[in-house]
Amino acid sequence: MNVLGTYPTPIERLESLDQSGVAVWVKRDDQTHPVYGGNKVRKLEHILPEVKRRQANRVVTVGAVGSHHVLATTLFGRQAGLDVDAVLVPQPRTAHVEANLRADLGAGLRAHAASGMVTAPFRLLPCFGEGAFFIPMGGSSPLGALGYVDAALELAEQIRSGILPAPDLVTVTLGSGGTAAGLAVGFAKAGLDVRVLGVCVATPVFAVQALVRWLIDETARLADPMHARILATRARSLLSIETSYLGAGYGSPTPEGDEATRIAGDVGLKLDPTYTAKTFAATLAHRASGAHRRILYWHTLSSAPLAPLLENAPSLDLVPAALKKLLR
Ligand SMILES: *Cc1c(COP(=O)(O)O)cnc(C)c1O
Repeated sequence: MNVLGTYPTPIERLESLDQSGVAVWVKRDDQTHPVYGGNKVRKLEHILPEVKRRQANRVVTVGAVGSHHVLATTLFGRQAGLDVDAVLVPQPRTAHVEANLRADLGAGLRAHAASGMVTAPFRLLPCFGEGAFFIPMGGSSPLGALGYVDAALELAEQIRSGILPAPDLVTVTLGSGGTAAGLAVGFAKAGLDVRVLGVCVATPVFAVQALVRWLIDETARLADPMHARILATRARSLLSIETSYLGAGYGSPTPEGDEATRIAGDVGLKLDPTYTAKTFAATLAHRASGAHRRILYWHTLSSAPLAPLLENAPSLDLVPAALKKLLR
């Protein structure tokens, strides 16, 4: 029931990154959609049809001011004829964050500024009311994670058709958790014996871990109600959470990430410092661990050019001051 994106996304072998008998592949989820790709598209595949089923005419969500999830929800929500409200919280100022905010506004987002996650609920409350459907941060509801169960089954099909051998390690960024949880449930469902390394980029770590456990349980219930328990147990055993690439926290770059970004650039992959750089750094390091022979790096950052989305966007001067203040 994929309605938005273009699937299956390609698989590429990164031969120049092979090291000591370990081979590296990449899953190109940067290419899920020609206008705006990345992992948030797959999450909306199940969320937006549910919004329609409930006959809601409006979605309400929350995220950092440069959130990829807020931008994807605005673009594809508006395309589906929905109004989109988002409460935005501060984030370090970068050109990428600024561009995302302008693209949000250009696409018709109704943005509401909050000073942080503690006050965000108070800004969210007035957004509710008749016809509103809430999407949690990062699109990581069990319904959103179902998009990554589909993605895992898509990979299983690519393995069956000989596009790549079964990897023994899949590396993926873990922020709000829906992507990693969905993949683990999907691999469990497909009977694939593949370890998923979720590279944690968000804090507090204990809360992220608890959220992922909950997401695995609830996503398993949606994916296979009859066998949810056994599926969730297997999924939990497939997923491990790597916390040693976080650096100073969400959104702050690390030297390992910067080095990984340079290496990825040489093989044609564009990374970002908040999410994918840290995951690619972990991927490169695991080539030397000796524990794995076939590693698949799951690329989650849109590679579609932002320029077309900025054509109708307000210039920064015209962005309301309350929103500009969120660029820290
Ligand atoms: C949101 C995001 C992630 C994290 O995915 P979660 O499902 O929130 O864990 C990873 N990479 C990119 C580029 C993202 O925008």
